[in-house]
Amino acid sequence: DQEVADYRKSLAIRVSGFDVPKPVKLFEDCGFSPVLMSAIKKQGYEKPTTIQCQALPIILSGRDIIGIAKTGSGKTAAFVLPMIVHIMDQPELEKEDGPIGVICAPTRELAHQIYLEAKKFSKHDGIRVAAVYGGMSKLDQLKELKAGSEIVVATPGRLIDMLKMKALTMTRATYLVLDEADRMFDLGFEPQIRSIVGQIRPDRQTLLFSATMPYKVERLAREILGDPIRVTVGEVGM
Ligand code: ADP
Ligand code: MG
Repeated sequence: DQEVADYRKSLAIRVSGFDVPKPVKLFEDCGFSPVLMSAIKKQGYEKPTTIQCQALPIILSGRDIIGIAKTGSGKTAAFVLPMIVHIMDQPELEKEDGPIGVICAPTRELAHQIYLEAKKFSKHDGIRVAAVYGGMSKLDQLKELKAGSEIVVATPGRLIDMLKMKALTMTRATYLVLDEADRMFDLGFEPQIRSIVGQIRPDRQTLLFSATMPYKVERLAREILGDPIRVTVGEVGM
Protein backbone atom coordinates (compact mmCIF):
# COMPACT_ATOMS: atom_id res chain seq x y z
CA ASP A 1 0.00 0.00 0.00
CA GLN A 2 0.92 3.66 -0.26
CA GLU A 3 2.14 4.03 3.32
CA VAL A 4 4.61 1.15 2.89
CA ALA A 5 5.76 2.54 -0.46
CA ASP A 6 6.33 5.97 1.08
CA TYR A 7 8.22 4.47 4.02
CA ARG A 8 10.50 2.53 1.63
CA LYS A 9 11.03 5.65 -0.43
CA SER A 10 11.97 7.66 2.63
CA LEU A 11 14.65 5.05 3.40
CA ALA A 12 15.84 4.81 -0.25
CA ILE A 13 14.90 1.12 -0.31
CA ARG A 14 13.95 -0.49 -3.61
CA VAL A 15 12.44 -3.95 -3.77
CA SER A 16 11.45 -6.39 -6.48
CA GLY A 17 9.88 -9.83 -6.36
CA PHE A 18 6.42 -11.00 -5.39
CA ASP A 19 4.70 -10.64 -2.00
CA VAL A 20 7.42 -8.56 -0.40
CA PRO A 21 6.94 -8.31 3.38
CA LYS A 22 6.73 -4.77 4.63
CA PRO A 23 9.77 -3.22 6.30
CA VAL A 24 9.95 -3.08 10.08
CA LYS A 25 10.78 0.02 12.09
CA LEU A 26 12.03 -1.64 15.27
CA PHE A 27 13.75 -4.85 16.34
CA GLU A 28 10.70 -5.32 18.58
CA ASP A 29 8.62 -5.82 15.38
CA CYS A 30 10.66 -8.91 14.41
CA GLY A 31 9.31 -11.39 16.94
CA PHE A 32 12.76 -12.14 18.36
CA SER A 33 13.01 -14.10 21.62
CA PRO A 34 13.78 -12.19 24.84
CA VAL A 35 17.25 -13.83 24.85
CA LEU A 36 18.02 -12.58 21.35
CA MET A 37 16.54 -9.14 22.06
CA SER A 38 18.82 -8.73 25.06
CA ALA A 39 21.85 -9.81 22.99
CA ILE A 40 20.93 -7.12 20.43
CA LYS A 41 20.55 -4.44 23.09
CA LYS A 42 23.81 -5.55 24.68
CA GLN A 43 25.54 -4.74 21.38
CA GLY A 44 24.15 -1.23 21.64
CA TYR A 45 21.95 -1.72 18.58
CA GLU A 46 18.93 0.48 19.28
CA LYS A 47 17.12 0.12 15.99
CA PRO A 48 17.64 -1.68 12.70
CA THR A 49 19.73 -0.08 9.97
CA THR A 50 18.01 0.58 6.64
CA ILE A 51 18.96 -2.73 5.03
CA GLN A 52 17.99 -4.53 8.24
CA CYS A 53 14.53 -2.86 8.27
CA GLN A 54 13.69 -4.51 4.96
CA ALA A 55 15.86 -7.63 4.95
CA LEU A 56 14.89 -8.90 8.42
CA PRO A 57 11.16 -9.43 7.71
CA ILE A 58 11.94 -10.96 4.31
CA ILE A 59 14.44 -13.46 5.69
CA LEU A 60 12.32 -14.22 8.76
CA SER A 61 9.45 -15.12 6.43
CA GLY A 62 11.68 -17.81 4.93
CA ARG A 63 12.20 -16.18 1.54
CA ASP A 64 15.42 -16.12 -0.46
CA ILE A 65 16.99 -12.68 -0.76
CA ILE A 66 19.46 -10.71 -2.82
CA GLY A 67 20.60 -7.84 -0.60
CA ILE A 68 22.54 -5.03 -2.17
CA ALA A 69 23.87 -2.30 0.08
CA LYS A 70 27.19 -0.61 0.57
CA THR A 71 29.84 -1.58 3.10
CA GLY A 72 29.08 -0.55 6.65
CA SER A 73 25.32 -0.75 6.27
CA GLY A 74 24.83 -3.58 8.76
CA LYS A 75 24.42 -6.58 6.46
CA THR A 76 26.00 -9.02 8.92
CA ALA A 77 23.29 -8.72 11.57
CA ALA A 78 20.69 -8.78 8.77
CA PHE A 79 21.60 -12.39 8.06
CA VAL A 80 22.92 -13.51 11.47
CA LEU A 81 19.81 -12.63 13.51
CA PRO A 82 17.34 -14.58 11.31
CA MET A 83 19.86 -17.43 11.20
CA ILE A 84 19.62 -17.74 14.98
CA VAL A 85 15.81 -17.78 14.77
CA HIS A 86 16.03 -20.42 12.03
CA ILE A 87 18.30 -22.61 14.15
CA MET A 88 16.22 -22.26 17.32
CA ASP A 89 13.16 -23.27 15.26
CA GLN A 90 14.63 -26.66 14.33
CA PRO A 91 12.93 -29.60 15.98
CA GLU A 92 15.23 -32.04 17.77
CA LEU A 93 18.19 -29.73 17.48
CA GLU A 94 20.61 -32.04 19.27
CA LYS A 95 19.83 -35.18 17.34
CA GLU A 96 21.70 -34.56 14.14
CA ASP A 97 25.14 -33.43 13.14
CA GLY A 98 26.71 -30.73 11.00
CA PRO A 99 25.94 -27.04 10.64
CA ILE A 100 22.43 -25.70 10.05
CA GLY A 101 23.70 -22.30 8.96
CA VAL A 102 26.62 -21.94 6.54
CA ILE A 103 28.13 -18.54 5.80
CA CYS A 104 30.71 -18.05 3.05
CA ALA A 105 32.82 -14.90 2.84
CA PRO A 106 35.68 -14.03 0.48
CA THR A 107 38.56 -13.45 2.91
CA ARG A 108 39.65 -14.71 6.28
CA GLU A 109 39.41 -11.19 7.73
CA LEU A 110 35.79 -10.86 6.68
CA ALA A 111 34.99 -14.39 7.77
CA HIS A 112 36.54 -13.66 11.14
CA GLN A 113 34.45 -10.51 11.62
CA ILE A 114 31.31 -12.48 10.83
CA TYR A 115 32.44 -15.25 13.19
CA LEU A 116 32.78 -12.75 16.06
CA GLU A 117 29.40 -11.16 15.29
CA ALA A 118 27.69 -14.56 15.05
CA LYS A 119 29.18 -15.61 18.38
CA LYS A 120 27.99 -12.48 20.15
CA PHE A 121 24.42 -13.03 19.05
CA SER A 122 24.23 -16.80 19.43
CA LYS A 123 26.17 -17.74 22.55
CA HIS A 124 23.27 -16.97 24.92
CA ASP A 125 21.18 -19.53 23.07
CA GLY A 126 23.90 -22.17 23.32
CA ILE A 127 24.49 -22.14 19.57
CA ARG A 128 28.03 -23.08 18.58
CA VAL A 129 29.92 -21.31 15.81
CA ALA A 130 32.88 -22.87 13.99
CA ALA A 131 35.49 -20.99 11.98
CA VAL A 132 36.68 -22.58 8.75
CA TYR A 133 39.24 -20.27 7.19
CA GLY A 134 42.96 -19.73 6.96
CA GLY A 135 45.03 -18.37 9.82
CA MET A 136 44.07 -21.19 12.11
CA SER A 137 45.53 -24.68 11.99
CA LYS A 138 43.54 -27.26 10.08
CA LEU A 139 43.89 -29.61 13.02
CA ASP A 140 42.25 -27.14 15.41
CA GLN A 141 39.46 -26.60 12.91
CA LEU A 142 38.97 -30.34 12.53
CA LYS A 143 38.65 -30.65 16.30
CA GLU A 144 36.20 -27.76 16.48
CA LEU A 145 34.08 -29.29 13.72
CA LYS A 146 34.17 -32.69 15.34
CA ALA A 147 32.90 -31.21 18.62
CA GLY A 148 29.87 -29.99 16.66
CA SER A 149 28.50 -26.61 15.62
CA GLU A 150 25.25 -25.16 14.37
CA ILE A 151 26.90 -22.35 12.41
CA VAL A 152 29.96 -22.53 10.18
CA VAL A 153 31.64 -19.37 8.92
CA ALA A 154 34.00 -20.17 6.07
CA THR A 155 36.06 -19.04 3.16
CA PRO A 156 35.18 -21.14 0.09
CA GLY A 157 38.60 -22.77 -0.37
CA ARG A 158 38.97 -23.96 3.20
CA LEU A 159 35.38 -25.15 3.36
CA ILE A 160 35.96 -27.29 0.27
CA ASP A 161 39.10 -28.71 1.89
CA MET A 162 37.12 -29.63 5.02
CA LEU A 163 34.33 -31.19 2.98
CA LYS A 164 36.86 -33.27 1.06
CA MET A 165 38.35 -34.42 4.36
CA LYS A 166 34.83 -35.30 5.51
CA ALA A 167 35.36 -33.08 8.54
CA LEU A 168 31.73 -32.02 8.38
CA THR A 169 28.47 -33.10 6.83
CA MET A 170 26.05 -30.73 5.14
CA THR A 171 22.95 -32.91 5.53
CA ARG A 172 21.46 -30.61 8.16
CA ALA A 173 22.37 -27.33 6.42
CA THR A 174 19.25 -25.39 5.44
CA TYR A 175 20.40 -21.76 5.63
CA LEU A 176 23.14 -20.64 3.27
CA VAL A 177 24.61 -17.14 3.15
CA LEU A 178 26.94 -15.91 0.42
CA ASP A 179 28.35 -12.65 1.74
CA GLU A 180 30.25 -10.17 -0.42
CA ALA A 181 29.37 -12.24 -3.46
CA ASP A 182 30.97 -9.74 -5.85
CA ARG A 183 34.33 -10.02 -4.10
CA MET A 184 34.13 -13.81 -4.08
CA PHE A 185 33.79 -13.65 -7.86
CA ASP A 186 36.64 -11.13 -8.14
CA LEU A 187 38.84 -13.55 -6.21
CA GLY A 188 37.93 -16.40 -8.56
CA PHE A 189 35.82 -18.42 -6.13
CA GLU A 190 32.94 -19.08 -8.53
CA PRO A 191 33.77 -22.81 -8.96
CA GLN A 192 34.14 -23.29 -5.21
CA ILE A 193 30.86 -21.52 -4.54
CA ARG A 194 29.08 -23.68 -7.09
CA SER A 195 30.56 -26.81 -5.55
CA ILE A 196 29.47 -25.79 -2.03
CA VAL A 197 25.96 -24.86 -3.16
CA GLY A 198 25.72 -28.21 -4.93
CA GLN A 199 26.40 -30.00 -1.66
CA ILE A 200 23.59 -28.28 0.24
CA ARG A 201 20.05 -29.58 -0.01
CA PRO A 202 17.80 -27.76 -2.46
CA ASP A 203 15.11 -27.01 0.14
CA ARG A 204 17.50 -24.60 1.83
CA GLN A 205 16.96 -20.88 2.30
CA THR A 206 19.59 -18.98 0.32
CA LEU A 207 20.77 -15.43 0.98
CA LEU A 208 23.13 -13.49 -1.23
CA PHE A 209 24.63 -10.18 -0.18
CA SER A 210 26.79 -7.93 -2.28
CA ALA A 211 27.88 -4.32 -2.54
CA THR A 212 27.59 -4.42 -6.33
CA MET A 213 25.73 -6.71 -8.72
CA PRO A 214 27.82 -7.51 -11.81
CA TYR A 215 26.30 -9.78 -14.45
CA LYS A 216 28.17 -12.91 -13.34
CA VAL A 217 26.82 -12.58 -9.81
CA GLU A 218 23.34 -11.91 -11.16
CA ARG A 219 23.54 -15.09 -13.24
CA LEU A 220 24.60 -17.21 -10.27
CA ALA A 221 21.86 -15.69 -8.12
CA ARG A 222 19.25 -16.64 -10.70
CA GLU A 223 20.51 -20.21 -10.70
CA ILE A 224 20.79 -20.87 -7.00
CA LEU A 225 18.07 -18.76 -5.40
CA GLY A 226 14.37 -19.62 -5.50
CA ASP A 227 11.91 -16.76 -6.17
CA PRO A 228 14.21 -14.28 -4.47
CA ILE A 229 13.26 -10.84 -3.30
CA ARG A 230 15.79 -8.24 -4.27
CA VAL A 231 16.46 -5.37 -1.90
CA THR A 232 18.64 -2.45 -2.90
CA VAL A 233 19.55 0.36 -0.54
CA GLY A 234 20.88 3.63 -1.93
CA GLU A 235 22.75 3.97 -5.19
CA VAL A 236 24.59 0.84 -6.27
CA GLY A 237 26.92 0.39 -9.22
CA MET A 238 27.26 -2.60 -11.49
P1 ADP B 1 28.33 -4.45 6.18
O1 ADP B 1 28.42 -5.95 6.23
O2 ADP B 1 27.09 -3.98 5.49
O3 ADP B 1 29.56 -3.82 5.61
P2 ADP B 1 28.50 -4.64 9.04
O4 ADP B 1 27.52 -5.71 9.26
O5 ADP B 1 29.92 -5.00 9.13
O6 ADP B 1 28.22 -3.88 7.66
O7 ADP B 1 28.14 -3.47 10.08
C1 ADP B 1 28.87 -2.26 10.13
C2 ADP B 1 28.93 -1.75 11.57
O8 ADP B 1 27.62 -1.36 12.00
C3 ADP B 1 29.40 -2.80 12.56
O9 ADP B 1 30.27 -2.18 13.48
C4 ADP B 1 28.13 -3.24 13.26
O10 ADP B 1 28.38 -3.70 14.56
C5 ADP B 1 27.30 -1.97 13.24
N1 ADP B 1 25.84 -2.22 13.26
C6 ADP B 1 25.15 -3.13 12.53
N2 ADP B 1 23.82 -3.04 12.77
C7 ADP B 1 23.65 -2.03 13.65
C8 ADP B 1 22.50 -1.46 14.29
N3 ADP B 1 21.28 -1.89 14.04
N4 ADP B 1 22.71 -0.43 15.15
C9 ADP B 1 23.96 0.02 15.40
N5 ADP B 1 25.09 -0.47 14.84
C10 ADP B 1 24.95 -1.50 13.97
MG1 MG C 1 29.71 -7.31 5.43
